[in-house]
Amino acid sequence: MPLHIQTPLLLSASLSTPDQQIWLKLEALQPPGSFKLRGMGHACQTYQQRGARRFVSSSGGNAGIAAAYCGRLLAVPVTVVVPQTTTARAKELIAQQGAELIVHGASWQEANALAQSRATGDAALLHPFDDPLLWQGHASMIDEVAASGAPRPDAVLLSVGGGGLLSGVIEGLRRNDWADVPVLAVETAGADSLAQAMAAGRRIELPAITSIATSLGARQVCEQAFALTQSHEVQSVVVSDFEAVSACLRFIDDQRLLVEPACGAALAAVYGRHAALRPYRNVLVIVCGGVTASLAQLQQWFKALGPQ
Ligand SMILES: *Cc1c(COP(=O)(O)O)cnc(C)c1O
Repeated sequence: MPLHIQTPLLLSASLSTPDQQIWLKLEALQPPGSFKLRGMGHACQTYQQRGARRFVSSSGGNAGIAAAYCGRLLAVPVTVVVPQTTTARAKELIAQQGAELIVHGASWQEANALAQSRATGDAALLHPFDDPLLWQGHASMIDEVAASGAPRPDAVLLSVGGGGLLSGVIEGLRRNDWADVPVLAVETAGADSLAQAMAAGRRIELPAITSIATSLGARQVCEQAFALTQSHEVQSVVVSDFEAVSACLRFIDDQRLLVEPACGAALAAVYGRHAALRPYRNVLVIVCGGVTASLAQLQQWFKALGPQ
């Protein structure tokens, strides 16, 4: 039994136009609030079968929350090491799932180093985006779309952080005979490690993350994600933080769902009628979710960022 739930696939009346059908895969409805549960659940179950008796994560975001959730369901103790920059809200959500929370270091790099040093013996280290088991788990969202009877998508729209979601979605497309379906990969400016890598023709590392979409804040995408841009049709789209936050606020009214700016980035391409979307009749949007932003926080960002 997988740990994730099967999520609804909705044809959105408010986001579709006469020429374009917008299909929403509502990963925001996974119990820990994001698609991360799919990959994390599959990785945790596999590591447990291979003998792991403890899990260690270094994510202060949705991956850490999903890891804590998986540990509780599997009755495996979880330690989540997060940097000092982690929000009170994220820490609370990790602790709520009964995981041991350790706050360590000024950045993710330091928290991750401590997590690695603790992942010895019968403990498995759970990476937030760079693990083939995660990609296999994420691919299940495409299996559900393929089995749903909905039309074959003409393009898939999703957000990119470290590239785990991108890698999983392409794996899902390939295993459902949809290898020719293009992917539109959206990032926010300041977290655009994939866009810059594609422009440079090699995996680059951003000097810093300057976007508020912290769940997209991987300074470098994983090797697999970059390699897939060479073997699959992937088009990169970059939106501003303001566009991402505005999309989140509109989505609350349109779909009655609150998501993070990380997810708002993909939604912003729809609301902004981005040119990259224009050729496609049926667009599958991965509503990846995220629980680390509150309504008050979204409104505060909206005011602070202003139209740009
Ligand atoms: C993790 C995450 C992403 C980015 O996923 P990657 O696999 O790192 O590319 C996007 N949105 C949300 C809400 C996330 O939690």
